Amino acid sequence: RAKSAGRGTVAFYDLHMDQAVRARRRLEADLRGAIQRSEMRVVYQPVVDVEGRPVSYEALLRWRSPDHGDVAPDVFIPLAEDTGAIIALGEWVLREACRAAAGWDERLSIAVNVSPVQFRVANLADQVSAILAETGLAPERLGLEITETALMRSREETLQTLRRLKALGVKIIMDDFGTGYSSLSNLQSFPFDKIKIDRSFITAMGDDRGAKAIVTAIVGLGRSLDLPVVAEGVETEAQRQMVVLEGCTEAQGYLFGRPGAAPQAAGAQARTAVGSSG
Ligand code: C2E
Ligand code: MG
Ligand code: MG
Ligand code: MG
Repeated sequence: RAKSAGRGTVAFYDLHMDQAVRARRRLEADLRGAIQRSEMRVVYQPVVDVEGRPVSYEALLRWRSPDHGDVAPDVFIPLAEDTGAIIALGEWVLREACRAAAGWDERLSIAVNVSPVQFRVANLADQVSAILAETGLAPERLGLEITETALMRSREETLQTLRRLKALGVKIIMDDFGTGYSSLSNLQSFPFDKIKIDRSFITAMGDDRGAKAIVTAIVGLGRSLDLPVVAEGVETEAQRQMVVLEGCTEAQGYLFGRPGAAPQAAGAQARTAVGSSG
């Protein structure tokens, strides 16, 4: 198509492609040294029970680059997965999060996202075991969030790693549930401890009967498998009421707290409800 439009057009497209490729390469290159340059930090978002009390925090990575500004995880995580930088980045987040959580009230747990790439390349179970020993965090207080895509590739290897992690006492959390393929069979064949319903269903359930039906079904599934079910992305009081009514046991979203500073270390302050804080 471009060719028939003349030479000038081809050059125009090439120039833009070239720019996009170069921008991507620059981002990739900058990503590599980001930890060493202290451009990365971990923020924590509360996961609350039905009374609005935090039971857990999810660790979320943030990158502030002097050249690119704040880069969203949805942009730099896939990039890091492509280049393999996610291996070092993932280990860093795990260590940071476990170190922080070790100082919190013992009733609070920490959830860390783990990329499918970490499952395939790194010896994840050994890494987790070493970090737990190093930080002194009780294994039961660590949850690893994985998405269904992690299970799609190299199924047997992944399953083996999951079993080793479970043997350590670590919890395995199915993240963004409902968005991937063969969701139901995954739940049956993998040893999950918790299900998080993807935010898209919570956002839509108010005026989309289909989305609401899916939430109902996932909660029912969780109940029969005896698994806690978390509603992700709860932003309004109406949504909060709906997910509680549906039977979700936990919730996470801007209504309860945005990703931010780590909770205070144990002893600093009693656990307080964060519900209805906006
Ligand atoms: P996720 O694991 O599903 O994390 C939840 C995302 O939803 C976070 O986005 C969080 O800020 C956002 N969120 C929470 N509550 C609300 C809400 O009420 N409304 C809206 N609109 N959003 C809400 P974030 O931090 O931008 O992260 C996006 C994704 O990037 C994560 O999705 C996760 O897949 C990935 N990610 C973030 N940190 C890490 C990490 O350390 N390692 C890996 N492998 N992936 C990470
Ligand atoms: Mg997550
Ligand atoms: Mg999620
Ligand atoms: Mg997600």
